[in-house]
Amino acid sequence: MKEKNKGNYISLRESRKIIKENVRQMKYYESLKRRKLDISEYTVPMKNPDNIVEIEDLETCFFTDTGTVKSVHGVSFDVPKNKVVGVVGESGCGKSVTSLSIMQLVQAPQGQVVGGQIRFNSSELGYDDKGRKLAYDIVRTPTQEMYNIRGKDISMIFQDPMTSLNPVFTIGYQLDEVSFLHRPNLSKAEIKEYSIEMLKKVGISMPEHTYKCYPHELSGGMRQRVMIAMALAGDPKLIIADEPTTALDVTIQAQILELLRELQRTQGCSIMLITHDLGVIAEMADEVVIMYAGRVIEKGTVHEIFHNPLHPYNIGLQKSKPLITSSVSEPLYSIPGQVPNPINLPDHCYFMNRCNRCMERCAGAYPEMRQVSPTHSVACHLYADVAAENKPQSASGGSKKKKTPFAKNRVKYIEERRIEQRGAK
Ligand code: SF4
Repeated sequence: MKEKNKGNYISLRESRKIIKENVRQMKYYESLKRRKLDISEYTVPMKNPDNIVEIEDLETCFFTDTGTVKSVHGVSFDVPKNKVVGVVGESGCGKSVTSLSIMQLVQAPQGQVVGGQIRFNSSELGYDDKGRKLAYDIVRTPTQEMYNIRGKDISMIFQDPMTSLNPVFTIGYQLDEVSFLHRPNLSKAEIKEYSIEMLKKVGISMPEHTYKCYPHELSGGMRQRVMIAMALAGDPKLIIADEPTTALDVTIQAQILELLRELQRTQGCSIMLITHDLGVIAEMADEVVIMYAGRVIEKGTVHEIFHNPLHPYNIGLQKSKPLITSSVSEPLYSIPGQVPNPINLPDHCYFMNRCNRCMERCAGAYPEMRQVSPTHSVACHLYADVAAENKPQSASGGSKKKKTPFAKNRVKYIEERRIEQRGAK
């Protein structure tokens, strides 16, 4: 018995205790959702009115019988208006849970958003008395109010087009249903016309015919286009595309990505693109957020993330990309080790057991997010000095002299990495 207690074994008594605590927590968070709130209680000012969504310290947990899984742990990032923000990370790092939290679609009662703010910049809300743009705090917004936001202002393209459509209804029926929800004043004929127009918009060549088809009569690419048409039906300000090309072959992937880019340009909306495919991100995103074990570990512009990766995990990801120039006999690099158990996360850096640049300091507190340039930040102790040197520079307006140490450090670091890579080869 003693041996078992050392591992992940949980005694019956412990299990009962966890379940009891879970029930208490779930009841509490469910009761919060049912509260009747005044609009002033779930509207907050935006930090930057040019953002469509601002996520700050988001915490989403799942209460399981073996313990509380912290799927999203203090996640903060912004989605600017008319931009594509790519969220990357391996399976289980919290990308999809973050997007479901924005939509208030986390599987309740086990899954609950337990902290933080998600500020959605709605055009329906005005300004507060200090002249700041008001936004919905989605974490506190009541479920009833969320029906008006979900689908209309924020819509989602789900992972698998093969299973997302209902097989027993025609495409037209399912599309009309969504169109009617967002345009209740239109007549039946007008709704049909609108649905066909949406099918045309997403590049379906025979929209009238497709309107009458059942999902099984369409290819994967066509079904994904229908899903995109549904997402666009409400004329949303933000589209969350959760791995929209995972189930598609490469040529269709390219078409769907091109379509999304085109629609983003013409509709003037923002896209939050969730994927584990770095190629998709490089092609599509303006800004990139990298997540690891429920936390954001690096964020910056697409150029910074790909040309100047800082976090050892990001560097590992870049190294593990297959290159056309690499030799066939050369094994593809993979990051050694495993992600820590989400039920029992350590206090130190979560990447410590896999990091090849780990130092004594890494066993201490979790590294805070450090700004290394106005648009680039990283959560790693390696850049503590760079960030400290960088701070006074931005505070004082950035004189040319103060830029030198950061640039020097960066060059030194890149040089070190090159030597390391050459050594590995
Ligand atoms: Fe590696 Fe330390 Fe940075 Fe974590 S904080 S990624 S262990 S160097």
